[in-house]
Amino acid sequence: MKGLWRFPGGLRLAGAKGSSGDGPILPLAPPPRVYLPLRQHVGAPARPVVEVGQAVARGELVAEAGAFVSAAVHASIAGRVVEIGDHELPHPPGVAETCVVIAGEGGEEEARAEVPLDPDEATVETLRERVRAAGIVGLGGAAFPSAAKLKPSRPIHTLVINGVECEPYITCDDALMRHRPEAVIRGALVLLRLVAAERCLVAVEDNKPAAAAALREAVAALAARSPEPVPDIAVVEVPTRFPAGGEKQLVWTLTGRAVPRGGLPYEVGVVCLNAGTTAAVDAAVHDGRPLVSRVVTVTGPGIRRPGNFEVPLGTPVRHLLEAAGGTTAKAVELVMGGPMMGRRLETADTMVVKGTNCILVTPRPDIAPPRVMPCIRCGRCAAACPMNLLPQQLYWHARGRTFDKLEPYGLKDCIECGCCAVVCPSHIPLVSFFRYAKTELADRERRRHRAEESRARTDARNARLEQQRQEREARKAARKAARARPRSAPASDEAVEDTDAAPPRAAGGAS
Ligand code: SF4
Ligand code: SF4
Repeated sequence: MKGLWRFPGGLRLAGAKGSSGDGPILPLAPPPRVYLPLRQHVGAPARPVVEVGQAVARGELVAEAGAFVSAAVHASIAGRVVEIGDHELPHPPGVAETCVVIAGEGGEEEARAEVPLDPDEATVETLRERVRAAGIVGLGGAAFPSAAKLKPSRPIHTLVINGVECEPYITCDDALMRHRPEAVIRGALVLLRLVAAERCLVAVEDNKPAAAAALREAVAALAARSPEPVPDIAVVEVPTRFPAGGEKQLVWTLTGRAVPRGGLPYEVGVVCLNAGTTAAVDAAVHDGRPLVSRVVTVTGPGIRRPGNFEVPLGTPVRHLLEAAGGTTAKAVELVMGGPMMGRRLETADTMVVKGTNCILVTPRPDIAPPRVMPCIRCGRCAAACPMNLLPQQLYWHARGRTFDKLEPYGLKDCIECGCCAVVCPSHIPLVSFFRYAKTELADRERRRHRAEESRARTDARNARLEQQRQEREARKAARKAARARPRSAPASDEAVEDTDAAPPRAAGGAS
């Protein structure tokens, strides 16, 4: 392939990957209970298909997809459904979602829910349906239902497998690519068929040489085994610079094509999926295994035995922390995700969901955070923004609550990467302001939508009442006209019918 393109802004961050990065992927013993939220993704929640008291096998469907953009949920441990009720989600804090709660009863060996498929024999529709039935979502963190991505409405020239794990500390995709490279490459072959792309680029950061080497070996082994020419799959090392793994940044780096504002990669002929998602597609197709577990990094200075764990979905975070030897400091902060884009967890009594790539444990800082100072208009935040936004302007309008101005400044395009906040000499928590403004705008949108629906209902009712009134008036006028007509006058057929008068007798007819 030709050269790479450099995306604007971004930062070189210290990786801090060492503590969790070198070891194998450790299987996590099943927890006593799992909490499976019906909505773990963008789109409609799944619909439960089990009842309280029902026994379920591992891999059994517990909730089916509720719409085109939705994802099925499967039992991640064998056991019995003990509750279908609300539990607090990892983020945002305070938001509860309906969960299917399963208490374990052993019998963990089987997670297969469907028969394995031969991807060369199965039709594209069958493969796409399998991805959908397996409940696969983007495992890089976005958790977008994958099947919805696999029916692009435009021709696709490039499939991108995103193995760029640019946040410090997180190593789950690196571990997966090093230890299960065949799964990633086999999954990529399935996806190539699904999106009918000419080529596949597997992107890995250049600080992960072992992962790149393992993937290249897997491609070579595949080519050596195959009697037919294999599709065009290339492993590409991209410069280590945060946020190189952002979908838009990666598409730009690999193809030099800019995904339009508010748009998606398919608009420039690219479909992009995370390496973990690709391995999940392989498991769904080749093994008939739905998405019931994922690799999660548990790391940070506050954990005793950092590592990467294969975790049943719905596992309480507390159980995972105990498996990693527990925490080292008395007071710790928990973050789900990385230090740049992750969310602080209020409690360890929440669960691992499909989008959970990392639990970061940090000791509470000994010193108070630096004081927030006024913006000095230095422009450093704009220089660091990989989305070419003007963070200081966004901040100004978010702070002043002039929300209408935020749309033209591209608030929706902010990926909350945190680069602007890191470089700000005034220590302004810019991303917090952007999240706050996005929540406000979403609330406004919801209120506007509700008001429009209510107005439409009122208009429809008024129109119905007006129509009924006109019909009543017409009937009244017809009755009045019939009464006013002299009895001897010959009645028209219509008038006879309207006034319920006896029909005139036919001359000479039978009585
Ligand atoms: S980096 Fe901070 S101080 Fe400088 S312009 Fe941006 S918000 Fe203002
Ligand atoms: S958080 Fe948003 S505004 Fe700030 S650098 Fe990232 S994309 Fe730009």
